[in-house]
Amino acid sequence: MAQDDGPKVLDTVIVGGGISGLTVAYRLGDRDILLLEKEDVCGGRTISRKMGEYVYNTGAQVVNGDDSLVAPLADELGIKRTLIAKSKMPIWMKGKLITASSEPAFLWQLPLSLGDKLRLGFRMFNIKRKYGKLSKDLPDLNDPKTIKLNATTLSEFVGASSPDLKALWDTVSLATALVPSDQVAAYHPLSTLIHFMADEYYVEGGTWELTKALWNQTRDKIKVSAEVLEIAQQGDRVQVTYVQNDQTETVQAHHCVVALPAPLVAPIVKDLPSWKAGALSKVDFSPITSAAFLLSKPSEYFLGEGVWRVPTVGCAIVSVTNPTFTFPSEIKERTGQGLLRVYSVGRESEKLMEMSDGEALEALAGELISVLPEVKGNIITSSLKHWIHGGSPWRLGRLQLVPEIQAPTGNVHYCGDYTAGSGMDGAVHSASRVLEELGAGPLFP
Ligand SMILES: Cc1cc2nc3c(=O)[nH]c(=O)nc-3n(C[C@H](O)[C@H](O)[C@H](O)COP(=O)(O)OP(=O)(O)OC[C@H]3O[C@@H](n4cnc5c(N)ncnc54)[C@H](O)[C@@H]3O)c2cc1C
Repeated sequence: MAQDDGPKVLDTVIVGGGISGLTVAYRLGDRDILLLEKEDVCGGRTISRKMGEYVYNTGAQVVNGDDSLVAPLADELGIKRTLIAKSKMPIWMKGKLITASSEPAFLWQLPLSLGDKLRLGFRMFNIKRKYGKLSKDLPDLNDPKTIKLNATTLSEFVGASSPDLKALWDTVSLATALVPSDQVAAYHPLSTLIHFMADEYYVEGGTWELTKALWNQTRDKIKVSAEVLEIAQQGDRVQVTYVQNDQTETVQAHHCVVALPAPLVAPIVKDLPSWKAGALSKVDFSPITSAAFLLSKPSEYFLGEGVWRVPTVGCAIVSVTNPTFTFPSEIKERTGQGLLRVYSVGRESEKLMEMSDGEALEALAGELISVLPEVKGNIITSSLKHWIHGGSPWRLGRLQLVPEIQAPTGNVHYCGDYTAGSGMDGAVHSASRVLEELGAGPLFP
C-alpha cells in the first residue's frame, strides 16, 4: 500500500494582493509560495480605471521621489513614471482659487490676516528647515525629532491661534493623514506634507500598472477571488483556510505573511498573543471616497496651467487634482477633454457611503462645482470608489507601538502600509522588512 505523505507544505502563504503582499511574492518567486487575494483582481488600493483617454487612480496617485523604495521597484519592473512638474502652488479657501509661482506670493495672496500670514510663513519655514529630512526616512524610533513630532498633535504643534489657521491646518491634516489636526500626531501630516512639496511621480497608464506588473511576475502562484477566513499556527506550520468559488480549502505552509489593513488581521489570525492583539487594536483606519469627473474641456481650463493638487479648505472634499497633468497636450487638444479627481475622508466619506452611488456622485459633483463653478454643465461621465480602509492615521502613541506592530508571532509575519509608515512607500518598506525576516531580503540590498 502506498504511504500517505500527508498534505503538501508550502514555503510561504501570502494573504492579500496589494502592493505589499505582491512585492513579497515577487521577491519570493523562486520559492514554493501561494498568494491569496479576496477580490477578483490584485492591486488593492492601487487600482486604476480608464476614463476617456485618461486614467482615474481610485486609490494611490503618486509615487514619491527617488528616495522612496517604490521608485526603484517601478524602474526595475520597467514601469514608466513621469515627474509631476508643478510650477504653481494652489489652494482653495473662502471661495477663491489661489495659485502662485512662489511661496512669498502664495502666502501674500492667502485670505488671512497679516498676522496669520506671518505666523504661517514662519511656521512653514521652520518645518522645512528642521524637519525637511523626514521625507527621506521611515520613522526612526530613536530620532529625537521624530519622537517630538509623535508626542504632540498637529494642532498643538502648529499652535493655530485663529479659526482661519485652524481650518487651513485641518485641511492639511485631512488631506495627508485623513483626520483633523487635533486627532493626529504631527509626525504623520508633516512627513506627508514634506513629500507633497518634494518630487512626485505619476505612473504612466495609472498606478495599477505597477501592481499589475508585480502580479504578472508571479501570476501562476496567485489565486484571486480567494478570501482567507482563518490563519492558525499548528506546531511549526501555519494552516490557512480560505474560500474560493464557494469551496472551503486549507493549505499548510512553513510561513505566512499577512498583508492586510490592521483591522482585518485580528479577526482571522487565531490565538494572537495579547500584546499583538492590543497593538493592532490601537491601529484604526479611516475611510476615503474618491471620485473622478471626465469633462468636456481640458483640466487646465478649470485649474490653470501648472496646477497639480488643490487643497480645499472648509469643504466636504479635501482636494481636487488634475490627473491629466502628465498626459501629452496632443491628447488634450484632440479630445478637448479633461479629468478632475476629488476625495473625501473620515465622516464625510462615511456619509457618502450611506448614499447610493448616484447620490454620492451628485453630492461630490456639487462640491466640485462649489470650488470650480465652470465645471457645471461640463461633466461627461463620473466614477466613484469607496475605501472602508483608506489609510491609518498615526494617533499619539503610535510610534511606541511600531515594534509590536511589526513583530512576527510564531511563523506569521506582518506587512502592509500601517506597519511601516504610510502610503505605498510604507507598504513596500514593510515588504522589504518581511523579506528580511524570511531570509530573502532586503528588497534592494
Ligand atoms: C484614495 C487613496 C489615495 C491614496 N494616495 C496615495 C498616493 O498618492 N501615494 C501613495 O504612496 N499612497 C497612496 N495611498 C495609499 C496606498 O494606496 C496604500 O498605502 C497602499 O496601496 C497599501 O498597500 P497594502 O498592500 O498595504 O494594502 P492594500 O492595498 O489594502 O492590500 C490589501 C489586500 O488584501 C486583500 N484582502 C483583504 N482581506 C482579505 C482576505 N480576508 N483574504 C485575502 N485577501 C484579502 C484586499 O482586497 C487587498 O487587495 C492612497 C490610498 C487611497 C485609498
